[in-house]
Amino acid sequence: MKALAIDFGGSHATCGLVEDRTLLLSETIDIDRARSLASVLPAVADTFLDLARRQSLALKDFSGVAAGFAGLVDSRIGRITATNGKYEDATAIDLDAWSRKTLGLPLRIENDARMALLGESFTGAASGFTDVVMITLGTGIGGVAMIEGKLLRGKHAQAGCLGGHLPVLFTGRTCTCGAIGCAEAEASGWCLPLVVKDWPGVTHSALSKYNEVGFKELFEESARGDSVAIAIRARCLNVWAANAVGLVHSFDPEIIVIGGGVMKSANVIIPYIEEYVQKYAWTPWGKVQVRAAALGNSAALLGAVPLLSETETLHRQLS
Ligand SMILES: [Zn+2]
Repeated sequence: MKALAIDFGGSHATCGLVEDRTLLLSETIDIDRARSLASVLPAVADTFLDLARRQSLALKDFSGVAAGFAGLVDSRIGRITATNGKYEDATAIDLDAWSRKTLGLPLRIENDARMALLGESFTGAASGFTDVVMITLGTGIGGVAMIEGKLLRGKHAQAGCLGGHLPVLFTGRTCTCGAIGCAEAEASGWCLPLVVKDWPGVTHSALSKYNEVGFKELFEESARGDSVAIAIRARCLNVWAANAVGLVHSFDPEIIVIGGGVMKSANVIIPYIEEYVQKYAWTPWGKVQVRAAALGNSAALLGAVPLLSETETLHRQLS
């Protein structure tokens, strides 16, 4: 199956042409954060047309469009149900109607982290596993679940996609979701500068030379032996590991796949979380494996074919 795939992120959208387990070609469109989703769609259509032309393909060669979106999505009704600080007009847009009109193809939308899990399950680090939790550590924290080979969705399409919003500290920071002390509010890219700013002794730390500390700087200064950086890194690792234990207790996975930009430091993160989970999670059946994601930024795009196939299976069952 050939599919058009798009991954709508906060500052960019990546369009790709996918054939089964292969990403044929992709291109990233820079997007001004303030712009609406509607204003981005013409560039998306142009990019798909250009990519298809470069592969000597026509739009009719594709089975459909699979779209990943960083927000709450009900894929069964094809709508974005809530956004989180970007693309505020998205809940009012019928993307399937737009796609059929503009590209002549049906479109299916899903939460971007769920699509990345489909990709990692189809052809990445979770290949061959039916019960998987995927955690994405980045600006936010994604946490999604697949149980018995199916994405978990639930009554309001919110099940198994808010893993980063499991509270780990009830006295913690207020999260963008409105809750207190979510893993995302304690150890994500957006909250790290706030954690650093409040850390005792930070003014004497190597971290004080940066305008804004990201995980890259935090891990680099930790490796150089800065004691404040090491302490903050340890706190982040413990937040992620506690979050992972919560996800194991919630979803009973065989494997946890961890992705996101911070996985450039996978050599530190994976062994720590694996050891913590194997020590603290209640799994009398055995040990949960922890692995780094294999597909990087392409994971969501490579979830396109399983997402569209899921629709076909559903339609066959309904007809
Ligand atoms: Zn939250």
